[in-house]
Amino acid sequence: MTLFLTKFRLGDKAVHIRRTRDKRWKVCGFCDGSGEITGAAGRSRSCPECCGRKGGYEYLDLEWLVRETLTIGQIDLRHSKRGGTIEKYMAIETGIGGGSVYDADDLFYNQKDAQQECDRRNAETAPAPKEEGRT
Ligand SMILES: [Zn+2]
Repeated sequence: MTLFLTKFRLGDKAVHIRRTRDKRWKVCGFCDGSGEITGAAGRSRSCPECCGRKGGYEYLDLEWLVRETLTIGQIDLRHSKRGGTIEKYMAIETGIGGGSVYDADDLFYNQKDAQQECDRRNAETAPAPKEEGRT
């Protein structure tokens, strides 16, 4: 028999870290933001690139930050030869069964450990450079 140990137990407090993302509207370059393409005889059709939406949102990954402290309410541990071990948690604060799912790698025992890991990850992966003035 193999006994698995999980990082947290039910009812434990866990400090969550998350990478912030920046959402930006990017104007469609194919139709130049009009949402339409004009063909022969002046007939227009929805732009095939943006489906007439005139653009779309772009996401930029930014820095890791310490987020909320959560109470572990559900543990999901999967172990298989092919997939290895997957350890995920759900929290009472954000919903059990339905709600946010947290990776064990993004949960910590205290604020200090969480902040240290944020600093480490931020140093390792510099934030994506912000592009400016591009359409
Ligand atoms: Zn378009």
